[in-house]
Amino acid sequence: MVSSYQLPKNYDFAEVEERWRGTWRDEDHYFDRNSKKPQFVIDTPPPYPTGNFHIGNALNWCYIDFFARYKRMKGFNVMFPQGWDCHGLPTEVKVEELNHITKNDVSREEFRRLCHELTEKNISLMRLTLRKMAFSTDWSNEYITMMPDYYGKTQLSFLRMLKSGYIYQSEHPVNYCIRCETAIAFAEVAYDDRETQLNYFDFDGVEIATTRPELLAACVAVAVHPTDGRYNHLKGRKMIVPLFGHGVPVVLDEAVDPTFGSGAVMICTFGDKQDVHWWKQHNLALRKAIDRQGKMTGIAGKYEGLNTTDCRTAILDDMKSQKILKRQENLAQRVGTCWRCKTPIEILSERQWFVKIKPDEIQEAAHQITWYPEHMLLRMENWVEQMEWDWCISRQRIFATPIPVWFCKKCGEIVIPDERDLPVDPTLVTPKHPCPKCGSNEFAGEVDVLDTWMDSSISVLNVTGWDGSGTPPYFPAQIRPQGHDIIRTWAFYTILRSVALTGSKPWEEILVNGMVLGEDGFKMSKSRGNIIVPEEILGKYGADALRQWAAMGAATGSDIMFNWNDVVAASRFQTKMWNIAKFALIQLEKEGYDQKAPVTALADRWLLVRLSDTIQQVSAAMECYQFDTAIKAIREFAWDTLADNYIELVKGRLYTGDASRRSALLVLHTAFDALCKMLAPFTPYFAEECYSHLNQGASVHKQPWVSFTYEDEAARYEGNLLAQVVAEVRKYKHDTGLALNAPLGKVTIYCPHTVNDEGDTGRTLNADVHWRTDAAKLERVITDIDFNRSVIGPVFRKQAQAFMTAIKALPPHQLADPPKTITLDGSEVGIPENSFAPKFSYLEEGAKVDVITVGDVIVTIAKSA
Ligand SMILES: [Zn+2]
Ligand SMILES: [Zn+2]
Repeated sequence: MVSSYQLPKNYDFAEVEERWRGTWRDEDHYFDRNSKKPQFVIDTPPPYPTGNFHIGNALNWCYIDFFARYKRMKGFNVMFPQGWDCHGLPTEVKVEELNHITKNDVSREEFRRLCHELTEKNISLMRLTLRKMAFSTDWSNEYITMMPDYYGKTQLSFLRMLKSGYIYQSEHPVNYCIRCETAIAFAEVAYDDRETQLNYFDFDGVEIATTRPELLAACVAVAVHPTDGRYNHLKGRKMIVPLFGHGVPVVLDEAVDPTFGSGAVMICTFGDKQDVHWWKQHNLALRKAIDRQGKMTGIAGKYEGLNTTDCRTAILDDMKSQKILKRQENLAQRVGTCWRCKTPIEILSERQWFVKIKPDEIQEAAHQITWYPEHMLLRMENWVEQMEWDWCISRQRIFATPIPVWFCKKCGEIVIPDERDLPVDPTLVTPKHPCPKCGSNEFAGEVDVLDTWMDSSISVLNVTGWDGSGTPPYFPAQIRPQGHDIIRTWAFYTILRSVALTGSKPWEEILVNGMVLGEDGFKMSKSRGNIIVPEEILGKYGADALRQWAAMGAATGSDIMFNWNDVVAASRFQTKMWNIAKFALIQLEKEGYDQKAPVTALADRWLLVRLSDTIQQVSAAMECYQFDTAIKAIREFAWDTLADNYIELVKGRLYTGDASRRSALLVLHTAFDALCKMLAPFTPYFAEECYSHLNQGASVHKQPWVSFTYEDEAARYEGNLLAQVVAEVRKYKHDTGLALNAPLGKVTIYCPHTVNDEGDTGRTLNADVHWRTDAAKLERVITDIDFNRSVIGPVFRKQAQAFMTAIKALPPHQLADPPKTITLDGSEVGIPENSFAPKFSYLEEGAKVDVITVGDVIVTIAKSA
């Protein structure tokens, strides 16, 4: 061990962080499957491997690491796994960009290989950031959703839910992105405000307004309100669709707004969700005018093969030339778009796979989970309440978990693999058995793949050891930490899948974190140029400062604005703490500390009370994930109580070598030891560095959470007074131009309680301090008069001097309570208001003293001559 005298002057975070990173062992964070300790399993979010661990991730992971480390210290067997949610469009798009190809230019296997390669590269980049941030990840429980052992489980979960009737396939309208050529779920639809045109045209004698004329070929009915008298003559009639000539029924529906346009609307398959609703309600025909590539189909007649935009132009042109287009108006519209590429979504009816949504089951499980903060449960409730469609889980993409089914070419039967043969890619292998229905051996493998959320929504089953047989051994997990932006996706789907596969809630608690906003208060985005990268902060101020920022930023669940000043403040706190540490270590090194030393001095007892209070406060905050409360309490104790008050008070005692020095040393050690332990979850490097110096190389991360308690009501009260008195007298010294260590003379403290300060006050103030329990006997005298010349001048002019002389001649009782008039040069003149004020001083035993009051304590100061 280096001597404390040789500790570096400044805290060098870069050197310290790198050194400890090289010393810590991964094994120390492994979940112990044989442990008797209570388990604490965390369903860590598997981030998308973009290669950049962004600041929002950093915030979320800081929260996780705070409680993972805390729970370990509290005696839990903690699992803090790390997953990677690999599949999906963003990687496919990136691979297309990087290789200047589209997914159709190479074979499916080659495309998948490219996606794999990119993903692996990105994961290794992100692992590095996780390590620098000092997250206590359990790398023995890492999972990668694109790997066979994981996606085999995704396939198993699919088969189980298929067998239990939760999963079905059906031709049903779904949200579809024609650019990405895939179905997407409702949760993935973004909304955009756009300007469009409303076109009024003649529809077989009735005026109809539409924003989607290109869907005319898909028109399947005209709807009017049942009580709209204007259309009585249409009831029961068929109408002829202009340009296309097919007949459609007229349906009556309460949902039609008679005041919008002409009150008659056309129903197409499908313009929007309302069309889907009417289509089901009135059992209408299905006319598919747009295909998966966004091209017009055969039923569009001469428009076949056009894309939707060209088709719209062509149809409007034809309406004009046939003189059926009456007028056009601009209309502001909210359009559903693809979350990935912003292309407006189409609603297409296609054969897809669905997961049944049973709202009551999900609500029930959601209510059995404890939500932090509590109001986030409402978001889940609202989302479940508004669910109208089942979850479409099939995607028409490549880099994803294959749907493990085949279709019999002869009879159409769905054929599934044996569970022990999973994982399978049905496009590469065939079933091991003939068709159970017709005995045929000819199959078509399902080419659709699974929605990525099908992978990530079993993360909790995976980490708790699910293998399909019964309830997983570590299920349910203790906690799910995640952002509020994915409540309606990840949280929702996970609850759904856990209930469907195990009949139980997935976790006991869910901790929802907010988003990180840029320094300008806006969501971080490339276009705003307000993106802050964790690596930049790590380079400038280190991981501990960044982690403190995350803890301090805001109450858990609230959005948090990034602010460099907060990071700088965090780093300053470390500098201050380092100075305290060096001071304490040097004192302790001189003669060590005696664990049995009697603690008698007021300052010592007081510090232990304040420490005990802080520990209770911090522990309570950690239990309910209020990290900002915890770190604020720690900082306040360390900075204000310990550094600014206590150490100033006992410094003198520590230098004297007096017997009571041992008491102060023990207290210093106790406080510093506790501070390291409380800081360990927040600033793991800094806490480790200080603790190892304090305790001969021991690791703070292997210590139990601090459990110190100390009760002494008198010390709390009197010690607070003591600290205040000292602070006030020091302020007095400063205000009267004295150096803080300058001798002060005699200080008498009139305090109703008996105080044993072991001489601390005298040494700190460099004064002859007397504590007295009797009442102060002070005499108030007027020693001077303040004249207000701006009042006196204008009133008395040449007589001003005479006026002041006359006032000075007044007896003390008249100065304190002046008369209305005064005699000046023989005549009675009025004394103007505010023309003077007497100045009082105090006399104690005949000597002039300055007086300070602190609550019911009176302090007199007789300055040395
Ligand atoms: Zn798209
Ligand atoms: Zn068959």
